[in-house]
Amino acid sequence: MQAISIQQPWAFAIARGGRAISNQAVPTAYRGPLIIHASMRVDLKACDSPLVRAAGWDPRDPLATIGAAIAMAELDDVCSAGAQGGPCDCGPWAEAGAHHWQLTSVRALPRPIVALGRPSLWEPSPTLMAKVQTMLAPTSSNPAS
Ligand SMILES: [Zn+2]
Repeated sequence: MQAISIQQPWAFAIARGGRAISNQAVPTAYRGPLIIHASMRVDLKACDSPLVRAAGWDPRDPLATIGAAIAMAELDDVCSAGAQGGPCDCGPWAEAGAHHWQLTSVRALPRPIVALGRPSLWEPSPTLMAKVQTMLAPTSSNPAS
């Protein structure tokens, strides 16, 4: 399992808004489970972007926080066509000049988990991984099923 730190409100758009692309300066060979971590920095201009508004950006939402893990996803593939100036099918979230990390199976955490992030991809601590897995584990609240 790996983690990636993303500025708000972009991290929120992944967690809540179904945004499936993370624009990154570098590609990665990693594929698999990825913790979405909201970094300590906020892209203030982006909070007014129509895309972010359409994703339901709400500063009062607990997942709009900074410095915390807020979602879990699968890193499915990385599209580098856009980074080389070419067209691609990654949709409205994809930015020219960036590598498009394609996310699937995004699950918002029920509440944020405070954690220190790092630029780009990083290895989550065993404690953080355990907390995320516990939060997303199927509950036994419905024993009849
Ligand atoms: Zn692309």
